[in-house]
Amino acid sequence: MTAKMDVTALMEWFDREKRDFPWSRDKTPYRVWISEIMLQQTVASTVIPYFERWCRDYPGIKDLREASIEEVLSHWEGLGYYSRSRNIHKAAQYLMENCGGELPQTYGELRKVPGIGDYTARAVLSIAYGKPYPVLDANVRRILQRLEAKTDWQKADDVRALEYLSGIIPAGRPGDFNEAMMQFGQQVCTTGSPLCDKCPVQGNCLAFKKGIAAEIPAKKVKKIKMSEKTVLLFHSDGKILLRKKKKGLFHDMWMLPTVEEDSCQRMERINNEWSILHTRLLTQRNHFYTENKDTLSPCLITSDEIDLSHMTPGDDENYEHKWVEISELDRYPCPSVYRKILDELIEGLKEIQ
Ligand code: SF4
Repeated sequence: MTAKMDVTALMEWFDREKRDFPWSRDKTPYRVWISEIMLQQTVASTVIPYFERWCRDYPGIKDLREASIEEVLSHWEGLGYYSRSRNIHKAAQYLMENCGGELPQTYGELRKVPGIGDYTARAVLSIAYGKPYPVLDANVRRILQRLEAKTDWQKADDVRALEYLSGIIPAGRPGDFNEAMMQFGQQVCTTGSPLCDKCPVQGNCLAFKKGIAAEIPAKKVKKIKMSEKTVLLFHSDGKILLRKKKKGLFHDMWMLPTVEEDSCQRMERINNEWSILHTRLLTQRNHFYTENKDTLSPCLITSDEIDLSHMTPGDDENYEHKWVEISELDRYPCPSVYRKILDELIEGLKEIQ
């Protein structure tokens, strides 16, 4: 590898500038594991309140094992990428049954735990157990790529990078070194325009010398799939109809029935089928997830029918439906955009009453 990281300068910078996060204070394997999973795909400032609430309500693996999946998903609500929390929940069962309720101390055993991949195993081993395993996340990759002024980066470069990092990770401070690299990537060698004038390793940086730091890594154009959906808020007898996905993305999360058709057309159909008191359109919202953007048009449909059974679409292998008291809605985990729709609905109904 042609990159040359000045480890001494980096560690001096870290000792001076490191941020005090809740997960940096008491680095137990459990806290390191939870924080590292939360920090994947999510920025630290967003994670802080989630992490604190999580550790308060589930201080250890045993507490987590005893929680229901719905409770765990509720604790994750708003963080996105919900499979992370489902895996943590599965992992808690696995750890209680196979590892005496502790996180294993070897790479091979850690990789058997549901949801623990190469990155998380390395983070736990270095930060919690003090073992010399370097991590390679997007921050570390970007720093090395810039030190080398390498405009493209392939899978083979990851292997090269890990070999290089294994050779320079300080034996006495492996966890600090990994945290230093990550924080350096978040604070100085940032995506977009890095703060090269504040950089302690500028002297070794080829991208800086060539004046191309901001162009590395090259931006990837993401193809976003766009959809327009009408969200149906069926409201009757103080209850709202929720729909839970049984599999795939968002499974075990409660959402609202949606249809991919024009809301006016849909309203005409509902008007013919139901005894409708009134309908109202709520604020249109965008739902971004993985490589999708759904434009959601929520439509409140209030009926005075007390017998709700015939109004409930049949459950099938994909969905389960449930009429839920409005006062109970917050007990059902749902993606944050649906929570916003439900909150707006509750506020609107208060005004009507
Ligand atoms: Fe990153 Fe700039 Fe430092 Fe190079 S000089 S490592 S691009 S911050």
